[in-house]
Amino acid sequence: MEIFYSNVNLSQKLLACKQPNQSIGFVPTMGALHQGHLSLIETALLDNDIVVVSIFVNPTQFNNIHDLKSYPKTLEEDVKKIESLSSSKVLIFAPTVEDIYGSSVKSSKFDFGGLEFQMEGEFRPGHFDGVATVVRRLFEIVQPHIAYFGEKDFQQLQIIKKLVTIMKANIKIVSCPIARESNGLAMSSRNMRLSSSDKDLASKIYFVLKNVKEQFATNDINTINQWVKTQFEMDDTLKLEYFHISEESTLSPTTTIMANTKYRAFLAAYIRDVRLIDNIALN
Ligand code: AMP
Repeated sequence: MEIFYSNVNLSQKLLACKQPNQSIGFVPTMGALHQGHLSLIETALLDNDIVVVSIFVNPTQFNNIHDLKSYPKTLEEDVKKIESLSSSKVLIFAPTVEDIYGSSVKSSKFDFGGLEFQMEGEFRPGHFDGVATVVRRLFEIVQPHIAYFGEKDFQQLQIIKKLVTIMKANIKIVSCPIARESNGLAMSSRNMRLSSSDKDLASKIYFVLKNVKEQFATNDINTINQWVKTQFEMDDTLKLEYFHISEESTLSPTTTIMANTKYRAFLAAYIRDVRLIDNIALN
């Protein structure tokens, strides 16, 4: 398994790979890998000759210093997990902060046409500037043909599609379904900070989303919004931060349904200081 800690070494290797027209797939991650990440890597392995997996906890996308400091770092285990999928076709890229940012650890400013101000953008100001800054830099280093992102972070996925347009880059973005625990909880590196009873409580998030999907066929959105609020008022361990039914393309919350439009329900909630997000396609 080849691990690259500097972009210069990775670029040299990729240059050699690209000569015989090999296709390069790319899976950016922040590490602490779970089955959700591995499913992206598996899909990338099916489509490409070489798959680059980056492992980099990007400081500029955290707006909460405690969240950044407590983010799990498990490089050794991550390497073993990737190795169990393929040791010959995957290159791991684990750069330093300096490799990505040089001496100035700052985000660039982006205009994503309003996508960046909804939901996560409202509650995590500057988050998507941080995400786009690191992904743009990683795209420049890796120059992939195809990059893989999870629907778990659906807003991020839409923003990355827009970023590729802004960059005028010839990179195909592939979206991958949400991997879940057996109780329905969306897999997340942050789940490592939950006890098993927390995980039981957190399974309510998916229970609510599934129920919303059923209600979407018959109930109006104001009624659904009220029902969701009530579900979270029953218990103060799991605190709702936001719930929205939004159009997939604009991510704008809506209370009226239009024909030929795709909608998703989005939810963020806290268990103590652990923040969880999830979403579900409604039609
Ligand atoms: P992260 O390490 O959290 O930055 O995630 C890296 C990539 O894995 C992103 O594209 C995420 O959307 C994706 N991802 C994270 N969790 C899941 C999941 N449960 N199912 C599918 N993809 C996921």
